[in-house]
Parts: sequence; structure tokens; C-alpha cells
Amino acid sequence: MNKKYMAEPYRIKMVESIRQTTKEERITLLKNAGYNPFSLRSDDVYIDLLTDSGTGAMSQEQWGAMMIGDEAYAGSRSFYRLESVVKNITGYKYFMPVHQGRGAEQVFLPQLVTHKGMYYLSNIHFDTTRAHVELAGARALDCVTECCYDLKNYHPFKGNFDLELLEKTILEKGKENICGIIMTITNNSAGGQPVSMENMREVHKIAKKYGIMNIIDGARYAENSFFIKEREKGYQDKDIIDIARETYSYADALLMSAKKDGLVNMGGIIAIRDDKCLFDKCRTRAVAYEGFPTYGGLNGRDMDALAVGLMEALDENYLRHRIDQVRYLGDRLMEAGIPIQYPVGGHAVFVDCKALAPQIPYDQFPSLAVTNALYVEAGVRAVEIGSLLLGRDPDTNKNIEAKLELMRLTIPRRVYTYNHLDVVADAMIHVFEHRHELKGYAFDYESPILRHFTSTFKPL
Ligand SMILES: *Cc1c(COP(=O)(O)O)cnc(C)c1O
Repeated sequence: MNKKYMAEPYRIKMVESIRQTTKEERITLLKNAGYNPFSLRSDDVYIDLLTDSGTGAMSQEQWGAMMIGDEAYAGSRSFYRLESVVKNITGYKYFMPVHQGRGAEQVFLPQLVTHKGMYYLSNIHFDTTRAHVELAGARALDCVTECCYDLKNYHPFKGNFDLELLEKTILEKGKENICGIIMTITNNSAGGQPVSMENMREVHKIAKKYGIMNIIDGARYAENSFFIKEREKGYQDKDIIDIARETYSYADALLMSAKKDGLVNMGGIIAIRDDKCLFDKCRTRAVAYEGFPTYGGLNGRDMDALAVGLMEALDENYLRHRIDQVRYLGDRLMEAGIPIQYPVGGHAVFVDCKALAPQIPYDQFPSLAVTNALYVEAGVRAVEIGSLLLGRDPDTNKNIEAKLELMRLTIPRRVYTYNHLDVVADAMIHVFEHRHELKGYAFDYESPILRHFTSTFKPL
């Protein structure tokens, strides 16, 4: 590996064998799965790029820490260890573990919905965040910069808020009707694109000006901090942890899925700057939904692993290699002329399937066609992010056309090597060279809600 992409900053002590299948087997396996990659067994997948959520590898330090977990129901040593790490990074006064990101959302988000007709504003709400906003009786509005939908042209911070749109929306809806502003870093739904420190500072100013609470959805805050160090003027010589601390200084609360930058397979975090009343309300709700506030649905040993993982994810060498892996795969695809979102974000490469297979109309799901072809070619599992995911218009029952038809190749943390990524790239190049043969899909069975998970299809 040349200097352009950093080699693995770890050596491998324990291995997990992965099963290879033949192309003929995969054709049958995919057919049996109803042409829906979500229905494939993991054992039938060679390289699994479905998600980076909870799929990372833990370090020897994390596994070691699990041995000293304290499984006390209340006030465990593991809780206090994790609490001190979270406070050290965020500078916030109050902390509570939860079972995963959506646990934090279900406990926290309803607290700020105080009357009918309220809104949360975000750069882009992640799916589960939007779901919990709506379950709490509020609406979710996105105020992301327009350049996030321009896949081709370089912009260092495509995850940013559109500040004008944000302020305009606050004035239009009335500040008393805004529950909070949710800063999603990196901006997952925009392809893991980063948000600049300047943008976070300005959003914070706007929040303060109107007396609105500012919340960070920080699933990938460490990756965001790395991008700031790499791309934003004045941050090149700063430590990642100090960039993270500055990030949290521009908000009042953190909700986090620890399955990403916590480097654990399950876990989540709520941290609140200084609002004791809000924290008390969250604790009350957490007892009913998550567990006693010093374990929040986690084992004691899980909290120890997370305490270690949070610090490992702030290590600059870890982050450089992580981001380089994603960039490596992106570069290989781009060199072959495959249309992808550029620049790549922190956790995945997004292939533009509308450009790749224009012969397939949106309601025959071009990204599903590419995803399935990639699986058949090499046993690589990716995921459709497009019109299939978007669903139907509740009024007309018509398929909604997504702005972008994407296939996401999501890289798990510390799991695969550059050689694995070469397998992915070679297979994807093969699919690209045969793109004119790709055909769309029709529903065989369409599930009424969250249809991408359980629907089955027939090839056209
Ligand atoms: C994953 C994720 C969530 C939800 O977290 P889970 O752990 O999957 O429940 C929320 N927000 C963002 C930005 C995420 O990436």
C-alpha cells in the first residue's frame, strides 16, 4: 500500500473465517431471498457492506475491559467509568447510557415537545430520529445546504446547515414552535458528509438568538472532527479530542448511537450540558423504556467497552486509516468512471445508480438492480438508498420518486482490509461494464411499512 492510503494501524490477533460461494449458488440464494439483500443470511455474504452500525471490531483493550465489568443494578463501577469519559469529551454535566441511538431519541426528543404544531429542525434528520420526532407529535424539517445534492462537485462540508434557510424557517414557524435544532454529524443521510466548525458555531448563534435548544446527533462526531482537522482552516494542528470538545461547546445536549464512533456493537448515550430539570425528566422516562439510569439497557461490561471505544475512536491514526479506506474504495470506482458521490463521506461510498442505469425507471428500483448484480458477481452486500426506501405517497398511494437513486457501500470499522475493498471495486467495475444489461424489479410482495426490509421482488 502506498503512502496515499494509510496501512492498518493494527495487527490482527483473532480472525473470523468468511464463506465464499460460487456465482451459481448466489443466483439461487438471491432468488430464495426474494431478491431482497436484507433477507440474505450473513453466512451467504462474503463482504458485508450493508451498514457500519454495530458491525465494527473491538480492540484487545475493549475485550479486556469487558472482563472487569461491574454488573451491579445501580451505581456500577462501569457506569462511573463511562460517565467520566463522556464528561471528559463533552464537558457536559449530566450523562445517561441507553441501549442504542434510538433509545436516546425515544427518551429525549418527546421532552421538548410541549404543545401541538411543533417542529424539530435538522441539517437532515436520520430515519429513526425523524420517526421519534413524529411519534412525539412534532414534525421534522431539514435545512441542509443545497450543495449536498450535487454529487459531482467538490465541497469540503456538504453536511452543513443552510443558515439562511434555518433562520427563515424559525421565523416562519415561530420560535416558540421549534422544539430544538438537531445538528447531525457527520450528516448520515447526506452520505456521511461533514459539517464545518464554522457552521456549527453559526447554528449555535442562531439557536441562542431565538432561545432554542441545540442538540448534537453525534453518531459519527469523531469522523466529523477528523474532517475538520483535514479541511478547515485553523484546525490542522489541533488534537482531535480538542476539536470534539469545541464541537460540543456549541450545543446543549448530545444524543449518540455508540454503534458508530463508540466502536461497540450495541450502546447509546444521552449527555446534557447543565439542564438538571430536563435530565431528571429524561431519567424518569428512561426507567420505563431503557432501564435504571446507571445502566440504561446495557450490561456493565458493555459500558466498559464503550468507555474504551470512545477514546480509541478519537485516535488520529485510527481515524486516518478509517477515512482512507473509504476514500480508497471511492477512488478506485471513480478511476473506472463509475459515478459516485464526491468527495466520499466518512463511512460509505455512494454509487449514483440513476446515472449508472438510466434505462431503469425509479419505480423499478435502479439501485436494487445494481445492489443485486454486485451480490451475484462477488458476494458483496450493499444497500439501496433510493425510491424503494422512500415508499409511497400516503395520499395517492403512488411510489415517490427519490431525488437520488443511490447504492451505499458502507465500510465497517476495523473489519476489512484494502484487499477486501479491491474485491468490492473489481466486482463493481464488472457490474459497471455490464450496466446496459441491468433490468429493474417489480414487487412480488410489498410490505405495508418499512417496505425495504421485508418486501420480495421479481426481476423484470
Ligand atoms: C444510527 C444513527 C441513529 C440511530 O441509532 P441506532 O443505534 O441505530 O438506534 C441516529 N442518528 C444517526 C445520525 C445515526 O447514524
